[in-house]
Amino acid sequence: MNLDNHYDAIVLGAGPAGLTAGIYLSRAKLKTLIVNEGTIGGQMILTHEIANYPGVESISGYQLANIMKKQAKSFGCKIVGNVSIKDTGCSGDIKTITLSDGTVYSSDAIILSPGGRSRTLGVRGEDDYRGKGISYCATCDGDFFTDKEIVVVGGGNSALEEAVSLTKYASRVTIIHQFDHFQAFEHAVEEASNHPKINFVMESAITAFHGGENLESVDIENLRTGETYNFKTDGAFIFIGYLPNTEFLKGKVDLNHRGEIIVGNDMSTNIQGVYAAGDSITKRFRQITTAVADGTVAAMTASIYLNELKVKQKLAITI
Ligand SMILES: Cc1cc2nc3c(=O)[nH]c(=O)nc-3n(C[C@H](O)[C@H](O)[C@H](O)COP(=O)(O)OP(=O)(O)OC[C@H]3O[C@@H](n4cnc5c(N)ncnc54)[C@H](O)[C@@H]3O)c2cc1C
Repeated sequence: MNLDNHYDAIVLGAGPAGLTAGIYLSRAKLKTLIVNEGTIGGQMILTHEIANYPGVESISGYQLANIMKKQAKSFGCKIVGNVSIKDTGCSGDIKTITLSDGTVYSSDAIILSPGGRSRTLGVRGEDDYRGKGISYCATCDGDFFTDKEIVVVGGGNSALEEAVSLTKYASRVTIIHQFDHFQAFEHAVEEASNHPKINFVMESAITAFHGGENLESVDIENLRTGETYNFKTDGAFIFIGYLPNTEFLKGKVDLNHRGEIIVGNDMSTNIQGVYAAGDSITKRFRQITTAVADGTVAAMTASIYLNELKVKQKLAITI
């Protein structure tokens, strides 16, 4: 084992969950490494304004990510970003991370915080207007559409519930759904159907997004007739599902049918020394505050495990 590359804990993923875990672990004097496949900050950096992080009235996601990164580093946490990971070994007493360039990092504990991503429509213009009219988070962005007309895409519980919640802000909400019926609970359908600000475009799908600097309209195809028309809108909220970034963990830790990492209240997984936090775990609400809370709990549980391990190792040496 290369001792330089051996850590007490490795954190996989540098979103708010992973960075918080890094802050707590390194502040507890545990040798900690955060390894991140994308840009440090995770989904936070996709957010131009965060207005619901307590203690900070308004901040860009990029700035908040940089503060968390700086804070973790100030306690001695090492952070490597934009790496390509070839393999993750969770099962043994020693956990390993192998990068594509051959570098191997090892640790006694690992915290998995790879986050997730919203399902996208994958149609023309979606990448161009993401954050400029297209959103995947009503709690995060609803306020920016006060007195504006918006569309909501989807027909499940989250689409209908979020459409109702968006009526607090928007002057009109049009739900676009590909089928002639919804895949949601009766009460959610009823609430949306009876809402005076909500109307429906059924058996239809968005085929393109258009605009200048910001989104201005969408093309909608009627899936029954094949007719396509242009529809003016200030915003589009897409709720067609969520994907945790856990494909690489299949067969390594217990995942549920949605691919979310199954954890206990203390963020432990089914494997000793392996913890998980943030958007990739089994939970209902996915926010920066909840990710930060999970990261805290995971780090504190891991710290207890590591301290007990150190005591056992010392005892084994003295005997
Ligand atoms: C557009 C948008 C706006 C949002 N606005 C807000 C808001 O205003 N307020 C709010 O509270 N929440 C907001 N959210 C939600 C919030 O950003 C997430 O809940 C939060 O970032 C989740 O944190 P996380 O650390 O679990 O995961 P993430 O932020 O997803 O970070 C995970 C990191 O892990 C990396 N990674 C993935 N796989 C691996 C791997 N195998 N190995 C190593 N690294 C890996 C990813 O590249 C990423 O950097 C928003 C989300 C989006 C998409």
